[in-house]
Amino acid sequence: MPIRRIVKYGDPVLEKATARVGGITDEIRELVKDMIETMYAAPGVGLAANQVGVPLRLAVIDISVGEDPDALIVLINPEVIGSSGKQIDEEGCLSIPGYTEFVQRPEKAIVRAVNLDGKEFTVEGEGFLARALCHETDHLDGKLYVHRLSGIKRSLLTKRIRKASAAGEWEEVYP
Ligand code: ZN
Repeated sequence: MPIRRIVKYGDPVLEKATARVGGITDEIRELVKDMIETMYAAPGVGLAANQVGVPLRLAVIDISVGEDPDALIVLINPEVIGSSGKQIDEEGCLSIPGYTEFVQRPEKAIVRAVNLDGKEFTVEGEGFLARALCHETDHLDGKLYVHRLSGIKRSLLTKRIRKASAAGEWEEVYP
């Protein structure tokens, strides 16, 4: 099953911290392949495993959305080990289709992770890549960008989402 279904905000799997990946098995390789395909098909710049219903600490990012082969990053057991500065910009999420909000993030972020060869590496992101790195590691901690919004903004957004969801409008946006 190459392209997997992306779960939406409201599903409890998105709000639980994920478990560390124990080893790089064929199953993990298959999952990563599917996640990359699912991210490109959406299209999106990042996808966390719990967004396809798998509660593992694993994410993929490609801020070029497939344009630049070097831009693809597979993050297994990623941890943010450093961050600095701040930026406020519009942010969306494949699990909250059709909505964006201005979210504050660090201007720079350093993430340590393991790649598909089992090798540890660090990635330093600035600007949009820093935002993507923080967004995806947040997912793996059970956090969505809505949790980064102020109380009023957050309740307004969740109200709108609940309404759209009840009206069945979400499936139209992202079948
Ligand atoms: Zn997201």
